[in-house]
Amino acid sequence: MITIHTKEELKSITRTWQNERASVCLVPTMGYYHAGHEDLMRYGRTLADRLIVSLFVNPTQFSPSEDLDSYPRDHKRDTAIAEALGVDALFIPEPSDMYANDHATWVEVPEMGKLLCGAARPIHFRGVCTVCLKLFLLTKANYAVFGEKDWQQQAILRRMVRDLDVDISLHTRPTVRESDGLALSSRNVYLGSVERQEAPHIFKGLSLASSLVTQGETNAACLRDSVLQYWAKTIPHGRLDYLSVVDPESLAPLTEVTSPAIMACAIRLGTARLIDNILLPAPKRT
Ligand code: AMP
Repeated sequence: MITIHTKEELKSITRTWQNERASVCLVPTMGYYHAGHEDLMRYGRTLADRLIVSLFVNPTQFSPSEDLDSYPRDHKRDTAIAEALGVDALFIPEPSDMYANDHATWVEVPEMGKLLCGAARPIHFRGVCTVCLKLFLLTKANYAVFGEKDWQQQAILRRMVRDLDVDISLHTRPTVRESDGLALSSRNVYLGSVERQEAPHIFKGLSLASSLVTQGETNAACLRDSVLQYWAKTIPHGRLDYLSVVDPESLAPLTEVTSPAIMACAIRLGTARLIDNILLPAPKRT
C-alpha cells in the first residue's frame, strides 16, 4: 500500500492506473476505523482492480461549533488496518492542499440538504458534496462505497451524481452494529458509561417501529409516538434532535408508510450526536 499526502501525488498514481486500464474504487472516510469502515473497504476490494481510501476530516462539513478539532484521529492504526485489508492507496491530504485559500466553488443539493441532519447542520451536506465530488474527480474512480448509517449522505450524493452526470457508480453497504445494536461510529468514543448503556436503545426504538409496521401500523405520527415513548423510558439522558419517516430516495417526509420508508433519527447523548436509521418494510396488503 502506498500512502499519499498530496493531490499531485494522487494525480500521478491515478494516471498510472488509467494507463494500466485498471478500474478504481474509492472509499471516502474521516478515519478512526471501526468494523463499519472495514466492511466498506473489504467490499470495495471486490469491486475494482485498484482500491483507494481517502482519510480526511473535511473541515468544510463542520460548523465552527462542531467537533472538527476533537474528532478522533489515529493515522498509525488506520494505516495498518487499510494495509491489512488490501488497500492499494491511502490518501491523507492536508486541508490546505484540498482547499485553496480563496476556494469559492460549492456543490449543493439544497432541498435534500436542509432536511433531517441538515436542520441542525446547515452547511454539512454542502461540504460533503463538494469534497466527495473533488475526490471523485481526483481519483477518477469508477465506484465509490458508502454506508447506510449515513442514509441522508448517500441519498444526497446519489442525487448529485445523477444531476451532474458524474460517471461513477455508488454502492451502499448495511450498517455494522455492536452486538447490542448500537451502530458503530467513530464518535461512540465520546460516550460515557451511562450514555453507552442507553445508546443501544436508539436502534431498539427504531426496530420497534419496524415491527409495528409489520403488525399493520402505517401512520407515521403513531409510529413516531411509539418510538418516542420507548426512548423516554430507556434513554433518559438523550436529547432528541429529530425522528422522521421519509422517502428513501427523495427524503421527503411521509405521513403514511405505503412502501418501504426510512425512519431516521439524531439523538444527543452527552457530547455525542448519534445518528441511526432503519428501513421500514412495506405494509402487508389486506
Ligand atoms: P466516516 O469516517 O464516519 O465519515 O464514515 C466513512 C464511511 O463509513 C461513510 O460512508 C459512512 O456511512 C460509513 N460508515 C460509518 N459508520 C458505519 C457503520 N457502522 N456501518 C457501515 N458503514 C459505516
